Amino acid sequence: MIKPGRLSYIVAAELLVLLMALRCQAQSLWDLANDNKELLKIATLFTAQNVRDYLSSEEGINKAIDWCKKTGVTHVFIETFRNGYTAERRVLEHAKSKFNAEGFEVSGCVTTTRIAKISTGWNVISCYTNKYTQNQLQKIFEYTASIFDEIMIDDFLFTDCQCDECKKVRGDKTWAEYRCDLMTEMSRERILGPAKVVNPGVKIIIKYPQWYDNFHNRGYEVLRQTADYDRIWVGTETRDYNDKRWGGKVQYEAYYIMRWLGEIGGPKTGGGWFDPLGTTEDTYVEQARQTVLADAKEMLLFCYGALLRDTGPANVEKLRAEIPGLFKLARLVRSKPVQGILSPKPPNSDADGEQYVFDFVGMLGLPLVPTAKIDAGTKAAFFSVHAVADPKFTDKLKKMLDAQNPVLVTDGLAKRLSHISFEGKNPTILRLNGSPRNLLKLSREELELIRDRMLEPFGIKFDAPNKVALYLIGKNCLIVENFNDEPINASLEFSNPVAKAETVLVLPPEAHLDFSCKNGRLEFTEMTPRTLVAVAYYLAELVDYEIRG
Ligand SMILES: [Zn+2]
Repeated sequence: MIKPGRLSYIVAAELLVLLMALRCQAQSLWDLANDNKELLKIATLFTAQNVRDYLSSEEGINKAIDWCKKTGVTHVFIETFRNGYTAERRVLEHAKSKFNAEGFEVSGCVTTTRIAKISTGWNVISCYTNKYTQNQLQKIFEYTASIFDEIMIDDFLFTDCQCDECKKVRGDKTWAEYRCDLMTEMSRERILGPAKVVNPGVKIIIKYPQWYDNFHNRGYEVLRQTADYDRIWVGTETRDYNDKRWGGKVQYEAYYIMRWLGEIGGPKTGGGWFDPLGTTEDTYVEQARQTVLADAKEMLLFCYGALLRDTGPANVEKLRAEIPGLFKLARLVRSKPVQGILSPKPPNSDADGEQYVFDFVGMLGLPLVPTAKIDAGTKAAFFSVHAVADPKFTDKLKKMLDAQNPVLVTDGLAKRLSHISFEGKNPTILRLNGSPRNLLKLSREELELIRDRMLEPFGIKFDAPNKVALYLIGKNCLIVENFNDEPINASLEFSNPVAKAETVLVLPPEAHLDFSCKNGRLEFTEMTPRTLVAVAYYLAELVDYEIRG
């Protein structure tokens, strides 16, 4: 029997433990993030307006530092310019030294919006043919380089201007050619050159937007600019497919573009950047998972101000709970080659009605290998109209069909190739019926036929509803992610015997599924909505080999 006095003692002791645990939790995310920052760094941005509104007072800076530590943020980007507003040197320098003193890595940022002459297109974009705009652009980067040793350029370094001045200078070039040449010149002559005169050690990052199918049309040139800049970053803000204002992007896009640019950038590739606009807690953290799954070394949470309002606080709370798992995910994928269906988008290729088709194909449970190059020696491939930008495409396609490797082509590409004879060895046709979005309507049975054909060379069969993605990481890890709002059942069968398979990570932490492995067949039963599961498996032959070896 417990006496009343003893009971209150127990209650008090429990309360104390609870309080200590809560305190530890806040501290431990900061410690955990510092312990893991070489693997995956978490960053945030203070826009120029955030600098003015939140970093101008000691109280504001202290609050921001506290928020960052609680969120596992160890790297802050402090912006000097955005939307025609320049943050004050005194405020920038003070904030920089305060964050440095607290153990943060600190970089600068510039958003090239509303500079001098405004474009005839979008009213935040500038006309870079104009000399006054060019001079102002240069001044912004000279100013920023005088304060920071690393500068990120947010994804507005493009133009859609068609004013008379632009038309005249463009001459015979297409708009895409003119803009790519113009923005490459701006980067060299007005950004990189002048910034390095002011600060010879400065590293400048070009952050590419997430709209990869339109880059070249507005002057982003992933080959020349990646070669010119010190580092590249990637926009991975897919937000919520169903959101009226911000929607239309499927989650797989973040994965596709991060891997695609990761290959182009190689060691220059830094992180992925996403935001809370038009998201729910679930779709917000899915952006983080896709960014990390695609082997990003860093993830940036745009931006401090936006994360304090609307859906921001709830998103951040959900993300904080998932950060320990995201570090595990980063460890599972780091530098491991992905296996699967080669899915090339040659740089500067036109989508021609098949915009972002790769993102939708990834939602079908087909494990893709995003790439800019077409390698005819691959085991399986998916081709869209983008592929015709490779001058040797038809030869490569014939070679693959001759080798009897499975090839999936869009109906749009098939139409373009209709004049070519493949001598009975025909590719499988993926019917978009006018829009890649229609792929999300394919039934489980329709998907099974496509998957069985395409996954044969990998010795697996995958069965799942639409909007369940599959990733094959390295030699013995696979990841299944359910993007549906309903629980699902899925299975994966190996043609080779499997000695052992076990789940090694489930996200979010509160998610659930029943997992079993019998006779080479993995069953994922009652997998909760919006859930990612990673499985480590060992094929029997490999285990034998390892024992013998
Ligand atoms: Zn213009």
